[in-house]
Amino acid sequence: MKTFRIELPMWMPHLPGQHYDVRLTAPDGYRAQRSYSVASSPLDEGEIELTIDRLDTGEVSPYFHDVVVEGDLVEVRGPFASYFVWRGEERVLLVGGGSGVVPLMAMLRHRRRTMPDLPMRLVYSVRTAQDLIYADELGDEAEVTFTREPPAGWTGHTGRIDARLLADADLAGGTAFVCGSNGFVEAASGLLVENGFGAERVRTERFGPTG
Ligand SMILES: Cc1cc2nc3c(=O)[nH]c(=O)nc-3n(C[C@H](O)[C@H](O)[C@H](O)COP(=O)(O)OP(=O)(O)OC[C@H]3O[C@@H](n4cnc5c(N)ncnc54)[C@H](O)[C@@H]3O)c2cc1C
Repeated sequence: MKTFRIELPMWMPHLPGQHYDVRLTAPDGYRAQRSYSVASSPLDEGEIELTIDRLDTGEVSPYFHDVVVEGDLVEVRGPFASYFVWRGEERVLLVGGGSGVVPLMAMLRHRRRTMPDLPMRLVYSVRTAQDLIYADELGDEAEVTFTREPPAGWTGHTGRIDARLLADADLAGGTAFVCGSNGFVEAASGLLVENGFGAERVRTERFGPTG
C-alpha cells in the first residue's frame, strides 16, 4: 500500500466516503481509468489523499507504485459517489476488509476532527500485520482481526469477522458502512443484518472482483 497526497488546482470539499477517478494516458493514446477513495478529511483544503494497494497484475496500481514520483502531474476527476457517504449520522459502525478501510478512514479522521464524541467504531479485517494500513492512527475506536497470520504476541481477535466482533461494537440500530472485496462485503453485510442492523441502514462499497 502507498499513500499519495495530491494537490488539486480546482479543489472542492468531498464528503467522507467519496472517491476520485484517476486516468492514465499512454503515449499511443491508450487510456485506463480506475476509482480511488479519498482517505483524508475534507478539512484538508486544496488536497486529497489516496491510498493505493499494488496489484501485481494490474494496469493502474503498479504504475502508481513503481512510476509516479513526487511532483508528477496526474489526471483526476471527482469527487464522486452519492450514497456511500457519511453525512454526520449518529452511531456508526465501519467495517473494512483490506484496502476497503480507505474510505472508512476518511470518515474516522473527519469525525475525530469535527465530532469527537459521536459514537463511531471501526472493525478492520486484514490478512497479516504487513497488510495493516494506518496502523499508528487506529486508536481505541478500532478493532482489528487478522485472518491469516497475527503478529507475534497478538491477543486480539483472529479469523474472519464474526457476529461476536460486530456485536461487541454495540452499535446495532445505527448506520453501518461496509467496504472491501465482493466476498467480504457480502459476508459482512449479511452478518450485520442478522445482528440487528436494518438492511436499509447498511451501506456498501465494493472494490474488486475477488472474494
Ligand atoms: C468506488 C471505488 C473505490 C476504490 N477505492 C480504492 C482505494 O481506495 N484503494 C485501492 O487500492 N483500490 C480502490 N479501488 C479499486 C481500484 O479502482 C482498482 O480496481 C484497483 O486498484 C485495481 O486496478 P489495477 O488497474 O491495478 O488492476 P486491473 O488491471 O484492473 O486488474 C488486475 C487484476 O486484479 C484483479 N482486481 C481488480 N481489482 C481488484 C481488487 N480491488 N482487489 C483484488 N483484485 C482486483 C482483476 O480481476 C485482474 O485480475 C476502488 C474501487 C472502486 C469501485
